Amino acid sequence: MIKKAAVPLLFCLLVSSLLFGCGQKEEEQQAEPGTVEEAAGEETPEGSDDENGGFVIDLKDGSISSTEEETVETTEETTTAPDYSAMITGTMYSMDFINIRAEAGTDSEVIGHLNPEESIAVVEKVNSEWMQVVYEDRLCYVASEYLTEDPDWRAKIVSNRGYQNGDTVGLNPAWRFADYSAINSGAAVMYLADRNRKNITVGVNAGHGTKGGSSVKTYCHPDKTAKVTGGSTAAGAVTAMAVSDGMNFHDGTPEKKVTLQMAQILKELLLENGYDVLMIRDGEDVQLDNIARTVICNNAADCHIAIHWDGDSLDYDKGCFYMSVPDGIKYLDNVAAVWQEDERLGECLIKGLSERGLKIFSNGSMDMDLTQTSYSSVPSVDIELGNGSSDHSTERLYEQGYGLLSGINSFFGFE
Ligand SMILES: [Zn+2]
Repeated sequence: MIKKAAVPLLFCLLVSSLLFGCGQKEEEQQAEPGTVEEAAGEETPEGSDDENGGFVIDLKDGSISSTEEETVETTEETTTAPDYSAMITGTMYSMDFINIRAEAGTDSEVIGHLNPEESIAVVEKVNSEWMQVVYEDRLCYVASEYLTEDPDWRAKIVSNRGYQNGDTVGLNPAWRFADYSAINSGAAVMYLADRNRKNITVGVNAGHGTKGGSSVKTYCHPDKTAKVTGGSTAAGAVTAMAVSDGMNFHDGTPEKKVTLQMAQILKELLLENGYDVLMIRDGEDVQLDNIARTVICNNAADCHIAIHWDGDSLDYDKGCFYMSVPDGIKYLDNVAAVWQEDERLGECLIKGLSERGLKIFSNGSMDMDLTQTSYSSVPSVDIELGNGSSDHSTERLYEQGYGLLSGINSFFGFE
């Protein structure tokens, strides 16, 4: 992924400028065909060379110095550039999407950009915050905190459970409860934050989206006892759909499509904020049933957030709520150990959504006996972000994403 060609190309350009002209050879430059007229026609004020340390200004670019007056007009043919090649001390690599600026300051003009892992020729640190670099034959500046000398920096980041960026995480049959899963040929995908790392992995589970999942049954509880509340499977049932198909919004949009979009937005926001993200379903379909999704989160994440909208016939947006843990399953040993944290996570998410101005249903929770809850051993919650009447525009999903992020920050102690 590293653009290794960037440095040699830059070097060639710099050598060319060294051979064919720099500031001190202005007279010779003007003697070149096609250059004299341009230079003469510019009427660049006397002394402008001195203001720029004797360098000829690249007339394509009047913004090299913020103190320069707006007297330089665009001229296509004149490409004389000063030579900075001797000043280059090394190569560094960007750790983010960052700006290349004309001066060492965030108010300065943006000259270009670097992508993560892209290389740049560096000159020196000018202060604790800014690195002088050479970019397109110009001296420019980049915030040094986003640069590293290590081209392999990204590959060396690992999650707190030992995963690398892009790793797929399938169901390990040795994990507790793995043998209760009926559909597990798919895999979750790990995304690691590049910077401001919190060393926390959030399992983001876009509800539904497992083809064939509704025609396979799995046990509701690991001890094979009966379900204690209603829901998509009635109370008293011992087995439930491995993964249901989900509802359709009243405008016909399938829930599974919106849960995926919401998960992708939440992933983006979490990564930006230094969380690692385990995307349980990273595309339209993943062959992982609810038990497999839960067991993978138990072993590869620090919490499990399943995203849903509620199926009902209401013709108005009922608001957001989370599925709280019914008393009837709190005796299961894994549930006994974590249910209070399940509910604290749910409360944090509801608080985050509420503070964002989003509508909350009732008191924000509803007891529900879910497969997800009864197999969980890390804080786990099913969040219902509304119902079939809810606005599911991208703008609304971002609002909800920020609300969820705020709740996650609160849960993990980052206010
Ligand atoms: Zn759902």
